[in-house]
Amino acid sequence: MNKNDMVTVTIEDMSKTGEGIGKHDGFTLFIKDAVIGDTVEAKVMKCKKTYGYARLIKVVEKSPFRVDPKCPVHRSCGGCQIQALDYKKQLKLKDDFINNALTRIGGFDQKFISAIKEPIIGMDDPYHYRNKAQYPIGRDKEGKTIAGFFAGRTHDIIPNTDCVIGAAENKQILEVILGFINRKGISVYDEKTGKGLVRHVLIRKGFKTGELMVCLVINGKDLPEQEALVEALTGIPGITSISLNKNTEKTNVILGNEIRTIWGKEYIEDYIGDIKFRISPKSFFQVNPVQTEKLYAKALEYAGVGPEDRVWDLYCGIGTISLFMAKKAGKVYGVEIVPEAIEDAKENARINGIDNAEFYVGKAEEVLPSKYEKEGIYADVMVVDPPRKGCDIACLETMLKMGPKRIVYVSCDPATLARDLRILADGGYELKKICGVDQFCHSVHVECVVLMSKVKE
Ligand code: SAH
Repeated sequence: MNKNDMVTVTIEDMSKTGEGIGKHDGFTLFIKDAVIGDTVEAKVMKCKKTYGYARLIKVVEKSPFRVDPKCPVHRSCGGCQIQALDYKKQLKLKDDFINNALTRIGGFDQKFISAIKEPIIGMDDPYHYRNKAQYPIGRDKEGKTIAGFFAGRTHDIIPNTDCVIGAAENKQILEVILGFINRKGISVYDEKTGKGLVRHVLIRKGFKTGELMVCLVINGKDLPEQEALVEALTGIPGITSISLNKNTEKTNVILGNEIRTIWGKEYIEDYIGDIKFRISPKSFFQVNPVQTEKLYAKALEYAGVGPEDRVWDLYCGIGTISLFMAKKAGKVYGVEIVPEAIEDAKENARINGIDNAEFYVGKAEEVLPSKYEKEGIYADVMVVDPPRKGCDIACLETMLKMGPKRIVYVSCDPATLARDLRILADGGYELKKICGVDQFCHSVHVECVVLMSKVKE
């Protein structure tokens, strides 16, 4: 196999990053945008010893699982890797990712996994689910002002104001802003020169409250004629908060530190279950609130907490899971590394009248061992929701020493989940239940919630 060879390949599997996988004369090829069941014509772009990468040129025979993607720029945008795959098949693929990780990395038996795993929870309508969007603003080659997304790994803006996974209101908001920029002759930011004013538009929506937040990221302190923009935006139903964020750094980081509200409230509010959350431009908040509610309901069900129980929620973020648990538990302790998130967690506890939750700033792998050794803390139930790299070994070891009745593991990466479950299983815990939840429809990511119980001695 050589670079630039044209090959015809039938796609038999899909990779964790969403490429179609097929073989040509025994040589494995990864082909972006090809879906399982397709026969495609592809051009070889890069060869390694036993595998290579090819570019999809033409679908010769369409897979029964291939659908027409709703988004015209899905191939160049890179946000949705598998939008051309039927949604039911997307769910099956993600369920297979979980299975494969648990058997291959975790060393669990496939039959056992199949027996305890619940059906993956998908969305009824897997579109317009994201409550947050950040659109770069720029100019195209003709000098027209555009809003859209950075193409793949580059910083070319693909114009698109109507992202099919974003809130439906984004389009109207962006059109108002682009119209304002054009009418008033306001400059837009140029990454190469570092000149120009408007950089990004951040839009957030409270799905249950209908509240909308617009934050313009500008390379300067003031926005000329901002009253005209406010007047135009406030004509859109739901607009609750309009702010300016100053970012004058030459950086890829979207938001700067200074935020000034120019109309309405400083935050919007939304609910997960019946718990209210305050969301500022910079706060962390789960991006798919509909699925988050299902995920946390599952975590709560698995945790099975009662009024006597003491619960530790590690990697607690703004305390979403902690507050969910606090409604049922005796006491909840949250641990999180980002101090601002803990401030939000405390505020969220306060506005919901929850007084049995306490929060600590720090690394889970430091806070937990130190509290255990110095104060002899204990847990009836332990919940962890770590980032992709999973739990630190010091954290897992302390959990095993503390010996809670149940451990609920919420994970966004099946591979590190499987690695950590093996450690817990070898340390005296039994895998009881597993359930995948699709939080990021049309992407390859999958969340998973797992229940482990302490084996009785
Ligand atoms: N449970 C939360 C957030 C989960 S995301 C929610 O549902 O909203 C994972 C969180 O772990 C992030 O907030 C991140 O800041 C935090 N984190 C990352 N490394 C950590 C560590 N070593 N110790 C504690 N928290 C950590």
